[in-house]
Amino acid sequence: MIKTKKQGLLIVLSGPSGSGKNTICDELKKENTNIWESISMTSRKPRKGEVDGVSYYFVSAEEFEKNIKEDKMLEYAKFAGNYYGTPRGSVQEHLDKGEDVILVIEIQGALQIKKKLPQALFVFLLPPSMKELKRRLVDRNTESEEKVMERFETAYREINELSKYNYVIVNDEVKEAAAKLGAIIKAERCRVDRIEEVFLDTSEEKIHEILVDKDLENKRVDINKL
Ligand code: 5GP
Repeated sequence: MIKTKKQGLLIVLSGPSGSGKNTICDELKKENTNIWESISMTSRKPRKGEVDGVSYYFVSAEEFEKNIKEDKMLEYAKFAGNYYGTPRGSVQEHLDKGEDVILVIEIQGALQIKKKLPQALFVFLLPPSMKELKRRLVDRNTESEEKVMERFETAYREINELSKYNYVIVNDEVKEAAAKLGAIIKAERCRVDRIEEVFLDTSEEKIHEILVDKDLENKRVDINKL
């Protein structure tokens, strides 16, 4: 008896590099196949095993800047010396189709979206400890020692922005953290401000008229006849 908003829900999953955002998002999508994950654009070089158009759209810094100038990015940031950003068009298309969309992005970009679309859902992922975060960044073995230190320092600064988010999840166990994210999304879909219309069928409308719209004073209503 309710019709929810036709537009899908925009979910922003963010947190320091090494907090496990991609792992949690992949786990979430196993159980929630109706969530579409946006593919970001970056000027970073592909790592071993990364595929263009799947992991990221890999472009040059010049091409990225051209996209910024042409207003094609929903948000973007410079992180560890490279550009990262969300192409606007595909996100809009999926939301307009009523699909929920998840963005897995760092904090500067998430805060840009918060300014533009405060009604989106903002979830911050934390590692169990900063020691564990550093271990994950080192063990990943994808960046130089200097770059790992840069990401680690940035993580300390990013944690200060936690209060700007709606929810926080500590990622100490992948399945548990992904289940919490799934539960938050389910709850968000039930928010009253996502309801467009409450509708009644014809007979219910008649009852509504008798019980609510008409002045019932001095009138007795036999509940069994409704
Ligand atoms: P990585 O180089 O490890 O793939 O990504 C570095 C950081 O950039 C991560 O925190 C990642 O979540 C973030 N990131 C990935 N895509 C985007 C994006 O489209 N926008 C923003 N702002 N950050 C992104």
